[in-house]
Amino acid sequence: MKIAILPGDGIGTEIVAQAVRVLGALDLRFETETALVGGAAYDAHGHPLPEATLKLAQGADAVLFGAVGDWKYDKLERALRPEQAILGLRKSLGLFANFRPAICYEQLTHASSLKPELVAGLDILIIRELTGDIYFGQPRGRRESPDGAFAGAEEAFDTMRYSRPEIERIAHVAFQAARKRNKRLTSVDKANVLETFQFWKDVVTEVHAQYPDVALDHMYVDNAAMQLVKDPKKFDVIVTGNMFGDILSDEAAMLTGSIGMLPSASLNSAGKGLYEPSHGSAPDIAGKNLANPLATILSAAMMLRFSLNQPAAADRIESAVQRVLAQGLRTADIWSAGTTKVGTIEMGDAVVAALSAATAKTTITKG
Ligand code: NAD
Repeated sequence: MKIAILPGDGIGTEIVAQAVRVLGALDLRFETETALVGGAAYDAHGHPLPEATLKLAQGADAVLFGAVGDWKYDKLERALRPEQAILGLRKSLGLFANFRPAICYEQLTHASSLKPELVAGLDILIIRELTGDIYFGQPRGRRESPDGAFAGAEEAFDTMRYSRPEIERIAHVAFQAARKRNKRLTSVDKANVLETFQFWKDVVTEVHAQYPDVALDHMYVDNAAMQLVKDPKKFDVIVTGNMFGDILSDEAAMLTGSIGMLPSASLNSAGKGLYEPSHGSAPDIAGKNLANPLATILSAAMMLRFSLNQPAAADRIESAVQRVLAQGLRTADIWSAGTTKVGTIEMGDAVVAALSAATAKTTITKG
């Protein structure tokens, strides 16, 4: 099993280092190879996604990614900004399905801005289509407005579009995921206003015929945004398009208290994936041993489950994280009175110790 390790910028290097240590504490054999990505790659090679990094990602069984970005790159032309590396990887690896679980750990219910009873035991999965929709639709651009009340004025426009195969493949992924959970799927759209999402709804309904054991309902995105804060536990799996998924998955992330706890996976049709925490590079706390590495460690667990066919190892990591939280250890973002504040490295130490309690030796060969 070959894993491409792309730590990136800011806290990316700190949190990925801890996830790699945790992988190393399993009784499994991996080959790992590390490469620069994002701002770090731009500084060294003049591009956020150098050819060598892309080749490494393409040749690996899975990619473990930290985060990219820093305000110091904000003035670069768009194509050279660190965040372009993520878009480039998604595109070249065909990563069309983004999985973002939002789980509220019992010990962290007070960290949510919602009442504890609304989030205690929360375990939902948002599946976002990642390569289509208004984010990638052509044409787009700026021009002189050709018509309407402001004809002749400067305007900008984007194109929202989805093809049948794009909707069908994400719908299959979502029904199959729901099948492995509580067999309930909510498809989120804006069919009342947008042609694209009336089509989305029609195609998802057609695909449903192949999954009669899964209960499907449809919800408008504005209502879904409201229900997520009103009664989030009513959901099991949510599937939606790129833009709505972008917004709803961040909203769901905050239900759980800290973005530092939330993993994510982006998969292609062959099951290959890129695994990364849901948060960014947090330049405000970078290099201070303050970042919470658990989202990245849990992303490594998702990697073992989805791309490396090691579900038992994934379970072990998730149990180790639970044990560490039960011990009362907290990084600053999830700390509260009565618990013990620890840094990034100490949190990594604790997860490794919780794993090692029941683990034989591991071999990691470094490429
Ligand atoms: P961010 O997610 O980096 O940080 C938002 C807030 O959450 C900050 O206060 C930060 O300190 C905190 N935070 C984030 N992760 C944390 C962790 N693991 N532990 C503790 N606290 C944590 O979002 P931002 O500040 O809007 O963006 C910073 C940079 O990250 C920007 O350059 C942005 O473009 C980039 N970004 C990258 C990705 C990615 O690599 N996938 C995603 C989002 C943002």
